[in-house]
Amino acid sequence: MTATSRMHPQLVLLLELQDLRSQHRELGEEEGAGEVERAHFHIDLEKARSELEDKIQELEASLNPVVRKRYQRVLPNRDRVVVPVINGVCYGCFVSIPTATVGDEGAHQELQGCENCGRFIYILS
Ligand SMILES: [Zn+2]
Repeated sequence: MTATSRMHPQLVLLLELQDLRSQHRELGEEEGAGEVERAHFHIDLEKARSELEDKIQELEASLNPVVRKRYQRVLPNRDRVVVPVINGVCYGCFVSIPTATVGDEGAHQELQGCENCGRFIYILS
């Protein structure tokens, strides 16, 4: 069983989106610094970036409307839209999450968000 197989399917999508977006950011930042890489691997960074953009749009389109709305609300101000909760603390804003949320039966079935910072959360114990 992989770590993600217990997760809410929408949460898996959000994690993939987060990963693609950070990759996209890195490609943007490596302009210039990536010259060696580009020459060596024959990577067309512009092409890679636009392919990432396509994939990001595709994934965003497959979010359910409620999740997408929240995602778009959180997105503009945050590097990460999904963060873990460890020992009851949100690792996006480092505020304690009420134990009722953390301890809920079937916590992995419900897509949850931090009430303080609005990020999507997944519970690690
Ligand atoms: Zn938070």
